[in-house]
Amino acid sequence: MSSTRTSLEGLPETLLMGPGPSMVHPSTLRAMAAPSLGHLDPRFLAIMDETVGMLRRVFATTNPITLPLSGTGTAGMEAALANAIEPEDRVIVVVNGYFGDRMAEMARRLGGEVDVVEVPWGKAVDPEQVEEVARRGRAPRVLAMVHAETSTGVLQPIEPLAALARQYDALLVVDAVTSLGGVPVEVDRAGVDLCYSGSQKCLSAPPGLAPFTASPRAMRRLEARKRDVFSWYLDLRLVAAYWGQQRVYHHTAPVHMVYALHRALERVLEEGLEARWQRHRRVARALWAGLEALGLQLAVTDPALRIASLTTVRVPEGVDDAGVRRTLLEEFGIEIGGGLGPWKGQVWRIGTMGESAALRHVSRLVAALGELLRRQGWRNDVTGALAAVTEAARRE
Ligand SMILES: *Cc1c(COP(=O)(O)O)cnc(C)c1O
Repeated sequence: MSSTRTSLEGLPETLLMGPGPSMVHPSTLRAMAAPSLGHLDPRFLAIMDETVGMLRRVFATTNPITLPLSGTGTAGMEAALANAIEPEDRVIVVVNGYFGDRMAEMARRLGGEVDVVEVPWGKAVDPEQVEEVARRGRAPRVLAMVHAETSTGVLQPIEPLAALARQYDALLVVDAVTSLGGVPVEVDRAGVDLCYSGSQKCLSAPPGLAPFTASPRAMRRLEARKRDVFSWYLDLRLVAAYWGQQRVYHHTAPVHMVYALHRALERVLEEGLEARWQRHRRVARALWAGLEALGLQLAVTDPALRIASLTTVRVPEGVDDAGVRRTLLEEFGIEIGGGLGPWKGQVWRIGTMGESAALRHVSRLVAALGELLRRQGWRNDVTGALAAVTEAARRE
């Protein structure tokens, strides 16, 4: 019945500080309402080329094959693995959280012989552990890792694993969904072969596109495949024939999503990558200080391992996890995330991604969380916590 239908006009503004999606700038939302064009209209083709050019700068790469795939970050993951792996290939997946697990599961489904190098949630993987696994048995063809593990808040350094991939002539697949545009990801300098992200995290476009890039080395491997890529939709060579100069129809590009990404990337480059990374660091530092001043405990104890765009904080003993999140949303209009897998009910996940990475948002969240904890009987100093936020932001 129409009387019970949601009025989209009446939706309240919500401050998105979960693990994604992040806040979308009004100019990016407006870009989506630009006039519709056909997906082969020369004016749209120009917008595609500009989008690709901007994506190369954001990935810090000269890779000819750089494009936004239709689909969310998971489509990027599936594309990277489906194009890299042939049945019976030996694949090593570094797993220290939920998304590493997802990669391993996909690699198995693609017929890879998967070795998982696993460490407990909240820790980073020691490259020596990976080396040890690589040394045993057949040479790995693919090495896959999550750069910023959104389930735990741990950043896994890329360079040591890139060196290992080179040593074994394996392709390095890097999930940069939560890092690209918020934390340094330099594809060419680091030596990454296949890298993907998602439009709705640190790039602050709506969900629906997966920025993707593939090195010439990855493309040579792809050309030499014995078998076709299992997925027709995500076959890079077919997708690239549309995004490249041939403009061969493959599937209809999500035109208005490309508009949004185009505008979101403009905003990233207008700010500048260095400045953006620095903003994410400063805002994260402020958030950590505010949470600790409230008496909360950060789940990743080593600050060097923390991701600037995603913070995990322990749900204190006796505090109602889901209740706090529900009240935050209903009363304060703020969304944060709950824990996944083994950390379900154990942590809150707070995103400071892209447009969401602002001091005023952090202050609002810290004040609201402090108030909700007081209602649960805590005696914390909210004023002091807000001062800690400001103070930490000032430090360099
Ligand atoms: C969010 C996320 C994904 C999945 O992206 P979707 O857009 O939800 O499909 C994959 N990897 C990581 C690290 C993520 O944070």
